[in-house]
Amino acid sequence: MNTAVQTSILPLPSDQDISGRTFGQEEIEAVTRALASGTLTSTKGEFTKQLEIQFAKYMDCLHAHACSSGSSALHTAVAAINPEPGEEIITTSITDMGALSAILYQGAVPRFADVDPRTYNVTAKSIESCISDRTRAIMVTHLFGNPCEMDEIVTLAAKHGIPILEDCAQAFLAEYKGRLVGSIGDIGCFSLQQGKHISTGEGGLVVSNDSDLARRMFLFINKAWGYGDANPDHYFLAPNYRMNELTSAVALAQLDKLDFSVSQRIHTADLLTAQLQGIDGLTTPTIHGQNKHTYWKYCLDVNPDVIPGGTLALGKLLKEQGVFCAPRYIQKPAFQCQVIRDKRTFGNSGFPFNLAAPEALDYSPELFPGTFEALARVLVLPWSERYEPKHVDYIGEVIRSSVERLLG
Ligand SMILES: *Cc1c(COP(=O)(O)O)cnc(C)c1O
Repeated sequence: MNTAVQTSILPLPSDQDISGRTFGQEEIEAVTRALASGTLTSTKGEFTKQLEIQFAKYMDCLHAHACSSGSSALHTAVAAINPEPGEEIITTSITDMGALSAILYQGAVPRFADVDPRTYNVTAKSIESCISDRTRAIMVTHLFGNPCEMDEIVTLAAKHGIPILEDCAQAFLAEYKGRLVGSIGDIGCFSLQQGKHISTGEGGLVVSNDSDLARRMFLFINKAWGYGDANPDHYFLAPNYRMNELTSAVALAQLDKLDFSVSQRIHTADLLTAQLQGIDGLTTPTIHGQNKHTYWKYCLDVNPDVIPGGTLALGKLLKEQGVFCAPRYIQKPAFQCQVIRDKRTFGNSGFPFNLAAPEALDYSPELFPGTFEALARVLVLPWSERYEPKHVDYIGEVIRSSVERLLG
């Protein structure tokens, strides 16, 4: 049997090291200036202030605040909404734990909405079935860089008078009908973790056009100390989630490269999409209307009724040929993770789940057909702004030949 489909493996850039990241002299100079200034705290320095001004401008939002991670950005957003214990925040079953810990730490209950099995995103329809008299906010995640269908979600939220938090950790510069995601809802949250579109290793940003929410977010990041006020105090319970000046210096240099990262990712993703047309059982990313998908990752839908073994079998062949990938993405829906399934939160209290309405904790698989279908079929390919046409050709060829092998 001839198994040597590809004779030699082409090493692919990885966003976990310099091969797939865009760090250079600009970051080195910025961080050197920050160090030389001797001021490394954002409460006194200039880099974090500059970053916030620049990012607000970039996002065309009135306010931006930097913080220590995407998870802390989301926690800050939830805290700004200030839910009462046991109130529900509607979120998605396919997301990062940082989005859910944000809700739980503020004593709110994550209420999981199902996703569209082709875009992996929540929809107005799936959100609507989760709305109750306890709903305090909707948190949407623009998964993989593909925008949620926001018009219907905004209409639904307005009808119920509840705010929208956008988790844009995977969706820098993604656009819904020409508008940047993160600027459509009430608060947008971003991550600068190692593997995002731009990076500082760890870091986060929040944006808002609402001055009251922005003020609360500024305070929350700063132990709720009223910096600059006539009679400052610690106004409410809040952690120190500040970004430090070294990180902000790197973030400023990275922000100059965001357009590059996004346009390169889109360019090479489009090349792969063109290359994969006409392969039985494979569907390239589903993008609605004129939306702009910014490809944090590149996802394929693998139809197991056509391709024997589905995404697991295809993923195995890809890995053997050096094409790293994640069949099934997070493997299981968020509500099946131990922390949520077993309510491992605060001591043995089960808080805040112990305050939840039973229907908010109903994780029966029948309620999540889109989620289970999505995870059963998705094949996630890492992506990077350093991918070149030769990498895409290699990936495309490996996928095509691997599907042929599985089809026998
Ligand atoms: C990365 C990510 C987060 C968390 O960001 P960190 O910076 O890793 O804390 C939250 N939500 C989503 C969708 C993410 O991809």
